[in-house]
Amino acid sequence: MRGFCAAKTQQLLSLIHSISPLPSVQWRAATSRLWSSSSSSEDDASGSSMLRHLTSKIKATGPISVAEYMREALTNPVMVRLRCFHVHHNETSYVILSLQGYYVKKNMLGPEGDFITSPEISQIFGELLGVWVVSEWMAAGRPKQLQLVELGPGKGSLASDILRVFTQLQPVLSAASVSLHLVEVSPVLSRLQAQTLIATGGEAEREDEPVYRYGQTAAGLPVSWYRRLEDVPSGFSIFLAHEFFDALPIHKFQRTERGWREVLVDVDPDRPGRLRFVVAPTPTLASRTLVQADESRDHVEVCAEGGVVIQQLARRVAKDGGAALIADYGHDGTKTDTFRGFKGHSLHDTLASPGCADLTADVDFSYVRRVAGRGVACLGPVAQRTFLKNMGIDVRMQVLLRNSDQSSREQLMSSYEFLTDGAKMGERFLFFGLLHPSRLVRPKMATGLKLEKKTPAQPPVAGFTEIRFA
Ligand code: SAH
Repeated sequence: MRGFCAAKTQQLLSLIHSISPLPSVQWRAATSRLWSSSSSSEDDASGSSMLRHLTSKIKATGPISVAEYMREALTNPVMVRLRCFHVHHNETSYVILSLQGYYVKKNMLGPEGDFITSPEISQIFGELLGVWVVSEWMAAGRPKQLQLVELGPGKGSLASDILRVFTQLQPVLSAASVSLHLVEVSPVLSRLQAQTLIATGGEAEREDEPVYRYGQTAAGLPVSWYRRLEDVPSGFSIFLAHEFFDALPIHKFQRTERGWREVLVDVDPDRPGRLRFVVAPTPTLASRTLVQADESRDHVEVCAEGGVVIQQLARRVAKDGGAALIADYGHDGTKTDTFRGFKGHSLHDTLASPGCADLTADVDFSYVRRVAGRGVACLGPVAQRTFLKNMGIDVRMQVLLRNSDQSSREQLMSSYEFLTDGAKMGERFLFFGLLHPSRLVRPKMATGLKLEKKTPAQPPVAGFTEIRFA
């Protein structure tokens, strides 16, 4: 079994070696989780209107949870039209106030945006994930349908690199009807994804349609956009979530002498127009229900919204087959305060300019494992460096380096280092898999008439198992 799967992954990888660096995506070089200056007067104006909105809300109904603060700052969809009456001119006009959250209104990705992610750094990343998707589809017995579902696809670069792998592996995939499903809240990013991915398409006529955008790739694959995972049709699916869960709202809790208390966001009485963290004097519903009884840390962050998505993924994988691959900054239940804001190339006060800065918290994979439940098998987390090496990044690099000129070689090397170096994304970024339980059951293999006697090792899953490349 081990030999069979490893050989398949190697074979798939060798089939994509003829893909060369494409000029448009070639080594989208970057130096770090790149933060470039994005401050603009537009940012400042919408930042202060979001701040005013949050301040008046808090003044009216009391401090809000960190989760509510994040939800408003990142994904509030509202643009408000205010009617103003000018006394001097005796006329009425309208002012558009943007309360729109960071993800809803901005393209924040790429060297020209606020930050850069692995798929934007190198096409190798998407190619290896494409091989992973196809190898999991093969390991599931090559079902007739393959839905690739990406949560939070950003600029669409990962999906685009994977689709190129699918085209290359067409002889292998021809038995399946393949479709792409994107879960995206941002109208700005969904437009960008459409530009990258589809040749023809359109938008839904009504706002409440589950599929709000649709189209076909140049190769004829159907692509659909949804705001929520619930709206994606059921069926054998491979789900990908790259830097998605770290953008979802977290609750924060502090251990006190009187028990667990929720950390809330309040207006700062000493600094007008500023917000501050406070510890709730009494338990909240969240502090009563979301902290584990045996929790040993003094401060914990719980992403309940992410937990709901994980439960949905687990249910779907258990029922329809397939797998979910989650890749994110994270830890395995060891870290405490990871809530961070980023803006303009650097760390940014999480409570300053809401709506204009990225807010993120590391994914707690011990929580992911717990909420996924027993209906699925969990693998990982493993470090990105390990995952990519297991997927054959070194072999792929050698082929590309052989076929590149000097300057492409330098870019290749720097993006490789960025993805795999322990001090960069190699160790801080983790991969986690949810798989159908049958995937880890070793089928009984008859050798002659005798069944194997030894308890077999778990069958390998590409990326999570070391595979020696010849
Ligand atoms: N996966 C991409 C983008 C990461 S940024 C990459 O790695 O490059 C986070 C992405 O998730 C963005 O596309 C953002 O618009 C989307 N997103 C954030 N919150 C979301 C939510 N609640 N539902 C769906 N998409 C969301």
